[in-house]
Amino acid sequence: MLNAIENKRKEDANERFAPLLRRNKLKVTQPRLRVLQIISEKDTAISQPDLEKLLGDSVDRVTLYRVLATFEEKGLLHKIFDLHGTATYALCSTECGENHHHDEHVHFICAACNSIYCLEDFKMPKINLPHGYQLQSIGVNAVGLCAQCRGLGEV
Ligand SMILES: [Zn+2]
Ligand SMILES: [Zn+2]
Ligand SMILES: [Zn+2]
Repeated sequence: MLNAIENKRKEDANERFAPLLRRNKLKVTQPRLRVLQIISEKDTAISQPDLEKLLGDSVDRVTLYRVLATFEEKGLLHKIFDLHGTATYALCSTECGENHHHDEHVHFICAACNSIYCLEDFKMPKINLPHGYQLQSIGVNAVGLCAQCRGLGEV
């Protein structure tokens, strides 16, 4: 029974993410599908060590490192640093593409559990830069307590 569920999940991941990989001219591989599946199932950003734990033996560390680097470069994942300076990853909006990201939204970081949430509804204000300066990215973090840490449970 467990195997059947596992197979079903594999098929789902294939169906959902194989077209995304192909659209980005990436070969469809199990490690890539697994990483996308795990990240899409979470509503918070995830660090490489946490991904490693969830992947278990199915993907080795070097492969995982390369998968994440490729996804970031291709505009599938964006990187957010948590309160300890650890890089975490979240899925990108569909507007992101190779070498250009449009994840100009606020990231909410919980000071208690260190979870990071993408707040897509909050768009960045236009920033007036000094003459001759070029903007590459803006990052705004909102730090506070998430609903779970406030004892309100899942909302
Ligand atoms: Zn992006
Ligand atoms: Zn929390
Ligand atoms: Zn984000």
